[in-house]
Amino acid sequence: METSYLESHPDENGYFGKFGGAYIPPVLEQPFADITQAYAELKNSPAFIEELKYVRKHYQGRPTPISFAKNLTEHCGGAKIYLKREDLNHTGAHKLNHCMAEVILAKHLGKKKVIAETGAGQHGVALATAAAYFGLECEIHMGEVDIAKEYPNVVRMKILGARVVPATHGLKTLKEAVDSAFEAYIKDPVNAMYCIGSVVGPHPFPMMVRDFQSVIGFEAKEQFHEMEGKLPDNVIACIGGGSNAMGIFAGFIDDAAVNLYGVEPLGRGEALGNHAATLTYGEEGIMHGFNSIMLKDANGDPAPVYSIGSGIDYPSVGPEHAYLKEIGRTKVGLCNDDEAVDAFYKLSQLEGIIPALESAHAVAYAMKLAKTLGKEKTILVNLSGRGDKDIDYVIEHYPIPNAKF
Ligand SMILES: *Cc1c(COP(=O)(O)O)cnc(C)c1O
Repeated sequence: METSYLESHPDENGYFGKFGGAYIPPVLEQPFADITQAYAELKNSPAFIEELKYVRKHYQGRPTPISFAKNLTEHCGGAKIYLKREDLNHTGAHKLNHCMAEVILAKHLGKKKVIAETGAGQHGVALATAAAYFGLECEIHMGEVDIAKEYPNVVRMKILGARVVPATHGLKTLKEAVDSAFEAYIKDPVNAMYCIGSVVGPHPFPMMVRDFQSVIGFEAKEQFHEMEGKLPDNVIACIGGGSNAMGIFAGFIDDAAVNLYGVEPLGRGEALGNHAATLTYGEEGIMHGFNSIMLKDANGDPAPVYSIGSGIDYPSVGPEHAYLKEIGRTKVGLCNDDEAVDAFYKLSQLEGIIPALESAHAVAYAMKLAKTLGKEKTILVNLSGRGDKDIDYVIEHYPIPNAKF
């Protein structure tokens, strides 16, 4: 029997082709080797698998359904559009899929505390939720600028019992939060585990987070088959770091007939600094401990990035996405701010689902693609999260179309 793609990638050093690896300071080599070893043992342990299954079913709300977007499909007048409803997870997005698993892993390793960075606060809230459930301490590092900007999520983390540590150096945003979290982790790798929030960072995180998110794709494949009696022709997800995309792609990666699209944010336009379309405009480089494609400034440092979707404005991308694009297995689509907001309102008004602005990028691309395809074709969109967190921003900057009051 041929080994599946997922079993044979990455290689034992954490490489997907030339992308991935672990570029870490010597003091972190042992803790990362311990995590790799523990994961290799645990991933096949019946106790670990049972516990994960239990919390997914009885706490998180899995399986999440697939919804046929009938009205949106009619509106576009082409391929049938289906939505994998990750917005229905507890806490409102796919992030809990890997956070619950990371915290179970930490618990099995005998750790007392989980540490992470957060940008907009979404990963911090999901990890704080998982830590509360499993009774571990949680320490979230966040740039001072982001703390001011994303105040509701800061309050959520605190209510959930987490400690929020401000990163006060440099630009005081995500990069500084990563530095600060790593520093804290280096001081206490015995009692603490670092929990990365996407398929990024040093090996084994891109692999582990993908495996934890693959539940999306495996469920979706079965559910779609139940509804349509076949595989979807196209699968679409937005890409920041790339965890929700890898999660849904995982279910279909060995099915060559299924087109896989990752959608990147084009923000306000093509000029550097106005977007976060890393796979489209980036080049090979190392940052945050792994080799991938990144957006660089004139000095070769991570470039400033922008998107209306605060969870997808990252100047690098998971190494597996760089690899899958290079070998031609996945395609990369683009969606700008205005298209995302249009999809945000369309999905709300036609289907009664307010999507996260990140997820709206995938919906917008699906709408564009659907119009080019026949009615016998199908598109499955990963709706990574709900949009409650975005309503204040959208309403302030973009008037409601067809407002009835
Ligand atoms: C964080 C987030 C994303 C981006 O993360 P990926 O790792 O690229 O999936 C997308 N959608 C939502 C709703 C998020 O919260």
